[in-house]
Amino acid sequence: MTNFYIENFENIDESMYNKNVQVTGWIEDSRSIGSLIFLTLKNSTGKLQLIIKKNQVSEELWKQVDNITRQSIVKANGKLVHNEKNNIIELIIEELDILNEAVHPLPLDPTGRVDSGLDIILDSRSLSLRKPEIKSIFKLRNDSLMYIRDFFINNDFLEINTPKILSLGAEGGATLFKTEYFDKLGFLAQSPQLYKEQLMLAFEKVFEISHYFRAEKSNTTRHLNEFVSVDFEWAYKNNEQTMDLCEDLIKYTINNLIKNSSKELKNLDSDLSNYLNKFDRITYQNVIDDLNDLDHKKSFGEDITEHDLVVLSEKHKSFYFITDWPSEIKPFYIAGHKDSDLSMSFDLQFSNVELVSGGVRIHKVDELEKNMKKSGLDIKNFKSHLQTFKWGMPPHSGLGLGFDRLIMILANRKNIREVVLYPRDKDRLEP
Ligand code: ATP
Ligand code: MG
Repeated sequence: MTNFYIENFENIDESMYNKNVQVTGWIEDSRSIGSLIFLTLKNSTGKLQLIIKKNQVSEELWKQVDNITRQSIVKANGKLVHNEKNNIIELIIEELDILNEAVHPLPLDPTGRVDSGLDIILDSRSLSLRKPEIKSIFKLRNDSLMYIRDFFINNDFLEINTPKILSLGAEGGATLFKTEYFDKLGFLAQSPQLYKEQLMLAFEKVFEISHYFRAEKSNTTRHLNEFVSVDFEWAYKNNEQTMDLCEDLIKYTINNLIKNSSKELKNLDSDLSNYLNKFDRITYQNVIDDLNDLDHKKSFGEDITEHDLVVLSEKHKSFYFITDWPSEIKPFYIAGHKDSDLSMSFDLQFSNVELVSGGVRIHKVDELEKNMKKSGLDIKNFKSHLQTFKWGMPPHSGLGLGFDRLIMILANRKNIREVVLYPRDKDRLEP
């Protein structure tokens, strides 16, 4: 008869005391004291102390366990006991199989006794995830994704999946990755922009969470060449309503994390309670004025750079919106205010990091064509897109939120690479 298998160490309770059980996992630590060996067994759910008593096992098993390398995988059978003196639960081993031995030296120490640099962590990513703090990042990522999806479903949005191989780029420009597509030239999607707009014809409220690709050569702590974006698009809504939904989405996620993921937040030393105040909303013009007041010369019409945002972060340390950007520096599909060269657009910033870009879109085909030409795009390439605007396209707005950047903020990390399992940047295509 096989023993009862304990999959989740957190579920161990009194009813299992003094029963014969089976567990699997990796050996985190091993200490031998006279005729006893103490092993710390870990699995993805937690840890458990195993004890081997020399006089209760074969000499062969004793030797094997005495020489076992840390991080090796074992299967163990024995009796679960509650050590009342120390109030801990222990498994007194009767049988132990080494299923796979870890080969030392290992590239990093998952117990955290020795710190490793980011490159080593990324080069040995799967092993790094045995470190509790690093694992917490990805649990937080998982939880956030769940709450974001939940938020959209609660608000009657439809989840969509649009293609990632395209014949043209949503925003054009130099940051498109080219790919051979049989006898044609294809491009990897930079965003779902055109498709989510087309779907306004019938669905009115859509969201998509997916990977996008940008051939950006810049090496920064917030850019990757492959990233995950949370996009939504909805019909008949203005800029204020779209910003409100954006703010609600982020606060819904934060509130749920505070309520349900406190262990992870604690492991990551992340305090999210400060981010629940109303997000400031300032205009692009306010930013230009503020920068000039801070003796940082800036003229109207110039794009706001990373350096400008660092200067501005003196005043804005948390989430804030910058609205009404000059149309000139926004993509062709962004609608302008009536008789003005300002657009109905916004970015959400977190201190000096841009997190979201959004706005009201142009829904009239002639305006869209005019803007495309102005941006240097060949409207012939956008024929199938443009025709949908002649089939009864409602006014609509939406946004794209950099999910990895959001996690970087929520997990209190400084580099986007820390919060992505296998980041892709100019120098990294492996593992
Ligand atoms: P940035 O100015 O920071 O390069 P962007 O304005 O080019 O960003 P958008 O086209 O507005 O980016 O994309 C929407 C959001 O997607 C951004 O606000 C950001 O959060 C995220 N994002 C864009 N490019 C990247 C990237 N290379 N790596 C990670 N996230 C990105
Ligand atoms: Mg942007």
